[in-house]
Amino acid sequence: MIDSNGGNRKPLVFYVVIVTTIILLLNAFIFPLMMSRQVQVVGYSDFLSWIEEGKIVEVSLTQEANQIIFVARNDQGQEELYKTAVFPDDELIERLQKAGIRFSAEIPTQNNTLLSFIISWILPIAIFAGLGRVLSNQLGKRLGGGMNALSFGKANAKIVADQATGVTFADVAGEEEAKDALKEIVDFLEHPDKYAGIGAKLPKGALLVGPPGTGKTLLARAVAGEAKVPFFSISGSEFVEMFVGMGAAKVRDLFKQANEKAPCIVFIDEIDTIGKKRDGAGNIGGNDEREQTLNQLLTEMDGFDGKKGVVILAATNRPESLDPALLRPGRFDRRIPVELPDLQGREAILKVHARNVKCESGIDLREIARATSGASGAELANIINEAALRAVRLGRSAVNQNDLMESVETVIAGYQRKNAVMSEQEKRIVSYHEIGHALVAAMQTHSAPVTKITIIPRTSGALGYTMQVDEDEHYLMSREELLNKIVTLTGGQAAEQLIFHSITTGASNDIEKATRMARGMITRYGMGDFGMVALETVTNQYLGGDTSLACSPATSEKIDEQVVALVKEAREKADRILRENEAKLHELAEYLLKKETITGEEFMQILNAGKNKDEAETSAAE
Ligand code: ADP
Ligand code: MG
Ligand code: ZN
Repeated sequence: MIDSNGGNRKPLVFYVVIVTTIILLLNAFIFPLMMSRQVQVVGYSDFLSWIEEGKIVEVSLTQEANQIIFVARNDQGQEELYKTAVFPDDELIERLQKAGIRFSAEIPTQNNTLLSFIISWILPIAIFAGLGRVLSNQLGKRLGGGMNALSFGKANAKIVADQATGVTFADVAGEEEAKDALKEIVDFLEHPDKYAGIGAKLPKGALLVGPPGTGKTLLARAVAGEAKVPFFSISGSEFVEMFVGMGAAKVRDLFKQANEKAPCIVFIDEIDTIGKKRDGAGNIGGNDEREQTLNQLLTEMDGFDGKKGVVILAATNRPESLDPALLRPGRFDRRIPVELPDLQGREAILKVHARNVKCESGIDLREIARATSGASGAELANIINEAALRAVRLGRSAVNQNDLMESVETVIAGYQRKNAVMSEQEKRIVSYHEIGHALVAAMQTHSAPVTKITIIPRTSGALGYTMQVDEDEHYLMSREELLNKIVTLTGGQAAEQLIFHSITTGASNDIEKATRMARGMITRYGMGDFGMVALETVTNQYLGGDTSLACSPATSEKIDEQVVALVKEAREKADRILRENEAKLHELAEYLLKKETITGEEFMQILNAGKNKDEAETSAAE
């Protein structure tokens, strides 16, 4: 790790405040005092009378400046420096001799001139020099590696290897495939001769790719920890320096150090920062530096001896933007996917992190895992921590299931806004809206059962929401399931329309999701009229999944028409379901309004109440 002693560094602000205070103090007290000892101007007649009075101690005639500078005693008997303009006076020398005053052509030294010279010149310069040093040191540290920002062109990047990261594969839950792939590297680092003996060359580099927070950085550290070798870690952004050429120099430096410390691991986090595709002309400024750095990296990777035991790991969440040169054999030729955890993986990750907090016995982490489909390892770690914080807030000494469930919602939907004031009418609308979703979901056979409905507003802006938890993990979704999901999404606004005969802005998020799904069905999953033609490609797999159109404008128009038709059809289905169950809609919404939060069981009880038994059974079996 770089700069592992960062913990006890004083903040920059601290130094600035201290120095500013010193300067202010000097200004307020010392400088005025000093100023009073500066030369004072008097008239020639005063000068003459002071000679008579014997006040003057020493006189200096400076021809060039046409001034007489002299030292005289003031009323308090202290010696002070004065000056007066030269007046044509032939008898001056005589007068001075008569009065026994020393005179010369030099500036007389007053007692305090040396001191005042120090105070007025040397001290401020020293202060500013010192301030400059502190600032540049701080700046250097911030820019990575404690280098002096002013040492032009010299990259003394302080890259300190962590001797042993202390992280092992046991700290990384799930991700078994990634771990398997990395175990070979660990073995190589432990017994390089075994591989050298047979002439096998291990890949020089491995690239960890996956969405943010899935444990890529953690895995890299674990490899070093398992192999007990030094770990050089640098983030892509740290190569991008203030001065052109510094990044390349840093790369050189990094590899030089790594070679000396082999066997070891060099880890380049967020490599996409420097490894973006080089796209030749057309870029205005700024990219030269990055390209130089990338070129240097490629050169170094080619240059070093693969048998020596330096393994380069890199991580990125935008693999599609990497320069192909980085991915060719002999460089990062091994690509290790680090995907979002599945149910099993989520439970394992929760377990790993729950080890570090005190939990009440009998907590069910599987339930939490089930409720967090799509969450990353980092989010799961956060959920455990939020639960612990909640337990402390409530004055308990161990985490219980409620804390965990509540923190799932906190992480997903933000904190409860207990004191948000909603009008009674707004609450009614939200209540019908949410029940609309839940009822439509429950009435469609393929929809996942509702686990919880709430109309307590959240800091994320949600005024209420319906939480659905799939019983088991889905890897595939059928066309019907997708359609049903879209119908469920339209259920909220459908309920508003049915009951209040008007709609609100509350459905914007539903609309967004429904549109995205419908679009995906038509352009990517071959579920529309176009058949199996890819009309859109995902450009950003791990970060939000942005898509880009790959079809003619005419086709694009047709796509839009189909999306509109699909969502409209879904909405009509939701309308129909709600009309048929309007009585239940009222009953459930009023109940939710009263209770604010209801569970899936309560919901099902009310829904099934009054139905005769075998009717309920058939609907469950459908
Ligand atoms: P990435 O580099 O992929 O963005 P990190 O490795 O920085 O993610 O993960 C952030 C944090 O999330 C880790 O420090 C760890 O606490 C937690 N985490 C992520 N994935 C896992 C996992 N598979 N097992 C245990 N903890 C994990
Ligand atoms: Mg990372
Ligand atoms: Zn909604």
